Amino acid sequence: MEELLIEGTAVLPAAGAEWLESTAVLVRDGRVAELGPADELARSHPAAERAGGPDRLVMPGLVNAHQHAEGVSTAQMGFADEPFEPWMVLMHSLPTVEPSLTTLYKSMQMLTSGVTTHVHSHFPAKGGYEGSDAYLEELEHSIRAHREAGLRTAFAPYWRDRATFSYDDDAAFAAALPDDLAGEVRRLTSEPISNAIYIEAIAELSRRLAGDPLIGVQLSIAAPQWASDELLDAVGAAAAELRLQIHMHALESRRQREWGDAAHGGRELHRLAERGVLGEGTTIAHGVYLRDADIDLLAERRAMVAHNCSSNLRLACGIAPVRRLVARGVTVGLGSDDMAVDDDEDMLAEVRMAHVAQRIWEGPEPPLGARDVLRLLWEGGARIAGLEGAVGRLEPGYHGDAVVLDLAAVRGVFASPRLAYDDLVVARAGRAHVREVVVGGRVLVRDGAPVHVDMEALGAELAEAARAVEAARDPARQAFLERLRPWALRHPPAF
Ligand SMILES: [Zn+2]
Repeated sequence: MEELLIEGTAVLPAAGAEWLESTAVLVRDGRVAELGPADELARSHPAAERAGGPDRLVMPGLVNAHQHAEGVSTAQMGFADEPFEPWMVLMHSLPTVEPSLTTLYKSMQMLTSGVTTHVHSHFPAKGGYEGSDAYLEELEHSIRAHREAGLRTAFAPYWRDRATFSYDDDAAFAAALPDDLAGEVRRLTSEPISNAIYIEAIAELSRRLAGDPLIGVQLSIAAPQWASDELLDAVGAAAAELRLQIHMHALESRRQREWGDAAHGGRELHRLAERGVLGEGTTIAHGVYLRDADIDLLAERRAMVAHNCSSNLRLACGIAPVRRLVARGVTVGLGSDDMAVDDDEDMLAEVRMAHVAQRIWEGPEPPLGARDVLRLLWEGGARIAGLEGAVGRLEPGYHGDAVVLDLAAVRGVFASPRLAYDDLVVARAGRAHVREVVVGGRVLVRDGAPVHVDMEALGAELAEAARAVEAARDPARQAFLERLRPWALRHPPAF
């Protein structure tokens, strides 16, 4: 029997509970067993490992409901932030840094910011795969990295099979281009994409991961505009057969909605519903351009939204209607999308951004208080990750996943005792204040540093890998994309 006692000046057991003063959480064999007065539990469990202490705040571990596990950000790889579509065209020259290194580094960044559960929306390699074995091998690299990091992972590798450069079909786009650009687009999009590779690999992965306490798998398409009807049907059928959740991007930018209006008469989400990919296990990331009818459909289907506030601001997409979603009963979680405001995966800063942005979002719906935003983080995130009832709370039976903050450091030189802990945390807390992070009763971060991974050595290895990739960049590829970009941005001309 392994016991851990996490003590706090104040402990928040759940979004729906009150802060408990001078309390400790007893975690036994990975699960929360009991909460009680800190001194009593310390006396009755003298042999338990200890975490937290006086002048500490203890909360459920944070949940990042959408991210891509890129340990070196797009900005670091040389792509400055721009509005979504122009930025996206250039992403076709974003090189792949060694996946197990970049995934591990990113997971450790999340962990040290207090995240204990995350959804990894995994990018497929740009060149495609020869078969499902090659694809599976790549996925296994990421999974090994997640295991080493020790976070709970909802692994959602996505697939796409249409509209490589514009939102139109590749052949139609190529036909609208001058000859030299058309030839290159045809060459780059000539290989047919096998959706069977994807479905076979995910089916196999779900078999391998069945019953895994740390890692689960979800199906995923990149986004509706990047998925054919055939791919939607295949994913919908696999979700029903394998009983898997579905994760996807949708309605991230205004232009995506315009494409949906032109191609599907504004019934983009209804198309998903009709093809079996919009149900109570489905999460859409972003949803900045959801209309009221879309929100009604999400509510009716009990589908979820992963809100990525900083990403939507950095890529000039706008502010998602989170208050409206919440008011209509749609589950919302919070994600970083590898685009956190300081480019540093600070999840508490992301909570703060969401809180600030919803304050200025215009609508009649009630405002979101600090606790409301924390509820999205924990309760919404847990459901999106497929771990509702298992993570997001420090109540008996839940996984022993917690973050411990240095209360004095969060307060700074002074903070009035009249300021509630919720407001204090959401207004001021960040990575620098995280002292301990616990996953399943294992203290993985102590004094703000991981105990199980040498970050300096990992950082050096990742830096070397990134430098090698940078040195091998093909300048002709970037030049081609920059010439292609204005064409992609005004195609198809109908919208
Ligand atoms: Zn994303």
